Amino acid sequence: MEKHECEERVYPPGNAFHHYQCGKNAKSYENGKWYCGIHNAEAVANRKAKSDAKYAEYSRNLDEKNRKHKEMQKLLKAAEKWMDAQTMHHTTDLYNACTTYFERKIVIPD
Ligand SMILES: [Zn+2]
Repeated sequence: MEKHECEERVYPPGNAFHHYQCGKNAKSYENGKWYCGIHNAEAVANRKAKSDAKYAEYSRNLDEKNRKHKEMQKLLKAAEKWMDAQTMHHTTDLYNACTTYFERKIVIPD
């Protein structure tokens, strides 16, 4: 079988202006071009699926973080109210109280 080189254009990281041809031994012929094992449509799709999954996981984690942050904010507000009622105004007291409430997951009534 005749040898072909991968025709995919490759951009070096951080350089969108210069590219070169991949040039690895081609393994498949798709849409009028030769592609190596890295640049064929299936491999590209697989990598995209992987990175999409990673992104989905990342945004799930971000949602969870935001949710926790909101919960913490709520607790902080509640704790602040409670502090006012207790006439405790020292920052350390407030911090300790919040930490304690958050860890024990005690719901402070409004
Ligand atoms: Zn290639």
